[in-house]
Amino acid sequence: PAMNIGWIGLGNMGAPMTANLVAAGHRVKGFDLSEPARAAAAAGGVTVVESVADAVADADLIFTMLPAGQHAKAVITGADGVLASAPQTAVVIDSSTIDIDTARELHNAAAGAGFRFLDAPVSGGVSGAAAGTLTFMVGGDADVLDVARPAIEVMAGKIFHCGGPGNGQAAKITNNMMLGICLQATCEGAVLAERLGLDAQTFYQLASVSSGDSWALRTWYPIAGVTDTAAVNRDFEGGFATALLRKDIGLALQAGDTTGTPLAFAQAVSDRLDQLVEKGWENKDCAIMVRLVDGSDGS
Ligand code: NAD
Repeated sequence: PAMNIGWIGLGNMGAPMTANLVAAGHRVKGFDLSEPARAAAAAGGVTVVESVADAVADADLIFTMLPAGQHAKAVITGADGVLASAPQTAVVIDSSTIDIDTARELHNAAAGAGFRFLDAPVSGGVSGAAAGTLTFMVGGDADVLDVARPAIEVMAGKIFHCGGPGNGQAAKITNNMMLGICLQATCEGAVLAERLGLDAQTFYQLASVSSGDSWALRTWYPIAGVTDTAAVNRDFEGGFATALLRKDIGLALQAGDTTGTPLAFAQAVSDRLDQLVEKGWENKDCAIMVRLVDGSDGS
């Protein structure tokens, strides 16, 4: 059955996700601070409104898809925010990638205000958002997930219930930490293979069926012309921004601190992402890490 959905955050991910909900017959009212984001969502059939309160006033489900923890906290718990404006019958779902502590705070704030809440970050990027094949990693009550499931299924390829409050974020942060490390390994391997005189396509083919394989290798191999899905073919435009991977690895390092877990490789990748930001490449795809290996960054 069609649901009334309120959506805050209509950016690179939110716009295509809401377009899929509209296409599936749901009624979506959306709000974003940015005019280009509002226009993109309107083109996808979202009813764009003027405030968080207007977006959530008659909602069955409310999604937030915002940059980081401070934005999610402000939009959800602020005066005139989601909890202050929505009917308590609504289920509130934060799909932003944020720190685990803020996610747990949001669970508590929502419960305190009489709301059901899920942390439900996603993996699969802008292309997965457009295709409706995102992986959702959900923390919170399984019964609450079942209420939201029909809408999530429209946007998802796979849905994993990861446990209690914050566990969706824990899964997402850990996954992206491993992605960053595998990407760095792939960048080093790809450049070394070239310098040893190996044919890039041949090495790619053999590594992808050998023990050096990873999703980063198969999907983002950073030598031009080897695989279509790699950002190197588009001069690292679009894709998964260096700034976002840096944020996610920072969240993993923070979680490493709080759990007393040594994360040496994550720290090394984080340092390299800092260098890329210093070069002004924060909006380039993160596979631009290869430029620090092949020396073509000008250093
Ligand atoms: P984005 O910056 O394109 O979109 C975020 C939107 O939130 C922007 O349009 C911004 O104007 C809006 N916003 C910020 N504060 C607001 C407020 N107070 N009220 C209303 N709107 C506000 O980012 P994105 O790429 O869509 O990513 C969103 C989240 O999803 C991030 O946490 C990111 O880490 C995560 N994510 C991104 C990808 C990806 O490939 N881009 C993949 C998986 C997860």
